[in-house]
Amino acid sequence: MFTNEKAIVVFSGGQDSTTCLFWAKKHFAEVEVVTFDYGQRHKQEIEVAADIARELGVEQTVLDMSLLNQLAPNALTRSDIEISQEEGELPSTFVDGRNHLFLSFAAVLAKQKGARHIITGVCETDFSGYPDCRDVFVKSLNVTLNLAMDYDFVLHTPLMWLNKAETWAMADELGAFEFVRERTLTCYNGIMGDGCGECPACKLRKAGLDEYTAERDQKPSSTATGGEKQ
Ligand SMILES: [Zn+2]
Repeated sequence: MFTNEKAIVVFSGGQDSTTCLFWAKKHFAEVEVVTFDYGQRHKQEIEVAADIARELGVEQTVLDMSLLNQLAPNALTRSDIEISQEEGELPSTFVDGRNHLFLSFAAVLAKQKGARHIITGVCETDFSGYPDCRDVFVKSLNVTLNLAMDYDFVLHTPLMWLNKAETWAMADELGAFEFVRERTLTCYNGIMGDGCGECPACKLRKAGLDEYTAERDQKPSSTATGGEKQ
């Protein structure tokens, strides 16, 4: 769809960014990934991401972002803080400005690598209250990055308006349903694939998966639904 140009995917090894990686591989001639190591609860997340990158034949750069924990102690990086979310409040996994920082670092790396396309799996539909995952923020940052580095970046957000079921549908359309289901890590307890089934990330993932498979199984023929989402 896009070109023979090069793209960088912000990649964690989770469901969303892995779906984005397949999407990028379909649309760009050359794809690399950048993974942020910020002292995740589960080091395994970095390993899962590295395994996927290797298997899909894309170069991975891991950037050390451990300073995030210094800035904002939170439940993703500190095992002594419980993962929880109160009604109407930000979840305890929140780190102020995390996505902003990640995208900015990704842009510096992308320019060095001669890639002006940056792909991120942020999503406003399942908006958990992260202001820097909103579409308006990503568009605003796109302008800022272009001015900051005098470069024509294009930030792509293929999942921005999809719910979790539609994200599964996209993975399926890309021929990656089984891969994403079995090989990605979303679970806060570090269990691959369908995960522990108990944590908020697993519950969200399972609800979307159930909704999608129920829809798909009602359709008489193909495994895919809909058309191009972008
Ligand atoms: Zn879980």
